[in-house]
Amino acid sequence: MKSDSGKDAGKPVRKVIPITPAEPDPSQMVAMFESEKKVYARSISGVFARWRWIMVFLTQIVFYGLPWLEWGQRQMVLFDLGARRFYLFGLVLYPQDFIYLTGLLIICALSLFLFTAVAGRLWCGFSCPQTVYTEIFMWIESKVEGDRSARMRLDKNGWTFEKVWKKSLKQVLWIVFALWTGFTFVGYFVPIRELGGELLTLQGNWQIFWVLFYGFATYGNAGYMREQVCKYMCPYARFQSAMFDKDTMIVSYDTGRGEPRAPRTKKIDHKAQGMGDCIDCKLCVQVCPVGIDIRNGLQYECIGCGLCIDACDSIMDKMEYPRGLIRLTTQNAVAKLWQRAQVIRRIFRPRVLIYSGVLLALSIAMIASLALRQTVKVDVIRDRASLSRIVAGGKLENVYRLQIMNATEHTQRYRLSAHGLPGLELASETEVEVGPAETRGIAARLQIPYGSAESGSHTVYFDIDALQAGAGRATEKAVFLVPR
Ligand code: SF4
Ligand code: SF4
Repeated sequence: MKSDSGKDAGKPVRKVIPITPAEPDPSQMVAMFESEKKVYARSISGVFARWRWIMVFLTQIVFYGLPWLEWGQRQMVLFDLGARRFYLFGLVLYPQDFIYLTGLLIICALSLFLFTAVAGRLWCGFSCPQTVYTEIFMWIESKVEGDRSARMRLDKNGWTFEKVWKKSLKQVLWIVFALWTGFTFVGYFVPIRELGGELLTLQGNWQIFWVLFYGFATYGNAGYMREQVCKYMCPYARFQSAMFDKDTMIVSYDTGRGEPRAPRTKKIDHKAQGMGDCIDCKLCVQVCPVGIDIRNGLQYECIGCGLCIDACDSIMDKMEYPRGLIRLTTQNAVAKLWQRAQVIRRIFRPRVLIYSGVLLALSIAMIASLALRQTVKVDVIRDRASLSRIVAGGKLENVYRLQIMNATEHTQRYRLSAHGLPGLELASETEVEVGPAETRGIAARLQIPYGSAESGSHTVYFDIDALQAGAGRATEKAVFLVPR
């Protein structure tokens, strides 16, 4: 084809063929979002289910009960952020003691590493608040709406009177429980008895906000989000694979024994017919709170709760097959057909011994440091308004402000003194009384004979000694200025 314009005459032109986008093939499309299917977990009884409930009781008795216990005249455990003091049983910690909180967090993290290396997701399945509250919310749900099939039927049916009252009752119970949880949580930061009074009289806007906030978080996470928190929000599920190895205890399906799976009656000789022990009843899937099939192998969604073990063991009992088709074991044990003694021996492997050693050393250091911790603390601040002055008697005086903290549970009297320069004396009060777990600020005046020290700044020390034996002693550095 040639161009007809005079300039381009004789030049070839490219023919433009319009491209019509092909119709997308729906079977080839991959959705970027898939809404989660609701998990209707079936309840089951057994060793692991029992242990889960024992852990629910233990953790919740501690959580709900602890803020109501008293130690002397105060709450036994209170993180009083307003007063910047933490009360832990007989201990009173100040912001200066933040190192202990850091130490405690490191010990918790190391313990998690250790337990994960040995026993997989023990924490997730039995003690994590998400697991524990989900278990409680699911229990309330099953008590009101019935077990798995009844709940599925109720959700599928239209809005009948039965559905309205069951759903309403469940919501009321969930909300009451969530609010009580929020109230208890805030009770660790505000004295819980005062908090109760404030809420009843609708005082304390921040307290009300935090009770509602934490209550709403509990309601949403345990009532609706459930396994999705573990799957999509919890970072621990993601980085735990770095802590796993082939000797870590995990919930495993014994593929070699179970496959090929097939339904059958109890009477047939399944081995003679080439069948494995799995009867493909899917009970292990129905009881799983995260809705996975453990027969597909280790999955990051598995929280290690062991409910599929209980389910499968109950089936094995009915079929009169040996228990343990699904069991808590290690990848090495399944692959190499190890006996229990060999599995136990592998617990004490180098990684576990290193974690244990570091954890032990840190715990000892922390306990020793707490035992030797000073029960009196002092902060010295120079009085900037009056750096140095000559006072009556021809003495040179510097003024300071001392913050004396009594970290014991009793009122203490302290003797104050100072040293560090020839002729240095404390010209202000030499004894001071500080209430239990209180801080008292006092003005302190240090004097030296005029001319007894060269001009410049000199280091001096304040000594604070409790009059009661063993109630603490502290020394704090300060600067004494001598003008030219
Ligand atoms: S697969 Fe088994 S152990 Fe894992 S979450 Fe489901 S029921 Fe619990
Ligand atoms: S419960 Fe046991 S027998 Fe039933 S499907 Fe699961 S693994 Fe197979």
